[in-house]
Amino acid sequence: MTTVAERWRAVRAAIDAECETLGRNPDDVTLVTVTKFHPASLVRELIEAGARDFGESRHQDAAPKVAEIGDDTIRWHFVGQIQSNKAKAIAQYASVLHSLDRPSVVAALRTSESHVDGFIEVNLTDDPARGGVMGETALLELAALITEVPAITLRGVMAVAPLTGSADHAFAELQRLSGILATVHPGATDISAGMSNDWQVALRYGATHLRIGTAITGNRPAVG
Ligand SMILES: *Cc1c(COP(=O)(O)O)cnc(C)c1O
Repeated sequence: MTTVAERWRAVRAAIDAECETLGRNPDDVTLVTVTKFHPASLVRELIEAGARDFGESRHQDAAPKVAEIGDDTIRWHFVGQIQSNKAKAIAQYASVLHSLDRPSVVAALRTSESHVDGFIEVNLTDDPARGGVMGETALLELAALITEVPAITLRGVMAVAPLTGSADHAFAELQRLSGILATVHPGATDISAGMSNDWQVALRYGATHLRIGTAITGNRPAVG
């Protein structure tokens, strides 16, 4: 049995090694450890080991956990779907919102007093019911709305690879959209992509933020 701290160190070391192979600077790659559905005690073990970036996906679970941990030297990343009426509350504890996916969520942050970095979630499937903007026109439209909101600094694009099909194909498309976004918004060059099963692929296509859960935490407890 390995501990969660050991697995975090092993994943970080594997990322650093992969960066070396790719000729990329490991400092440019943020490992976001996704701790959704896990207790505060697990997050504390990881803080002890040196982890600083944590991902959560449900506001009702994240808010009490963040409060219980009460450590303002770490950064919380919100990676799940954001309900518009919860957006401002989420921005109070999350430094980074990875899943800005529609105008209503952006509009809800117009009056936010907490500042956040934001990624636009891109839908790489053919299914409009999945989260995220579809295509470059929708991407640039949402980006334009975001730049009118003082509380959000636009960082780039985010996506989850489709369950079927090649991750290579999906992340190549995400990198292409990232390039288009960056021509209009030169500060928005980051790419949030890659999870436990496909982070190596995402790194090859320029990912700067890897969102890794189960490879570090082990299986998630059943969701109630
Ligand atoms: C849960 C989740 C992850 C982490 O997934 P793993 O397969 O456990 O690494 C990453 N991104 C998002 C958006 C998630 O919801």
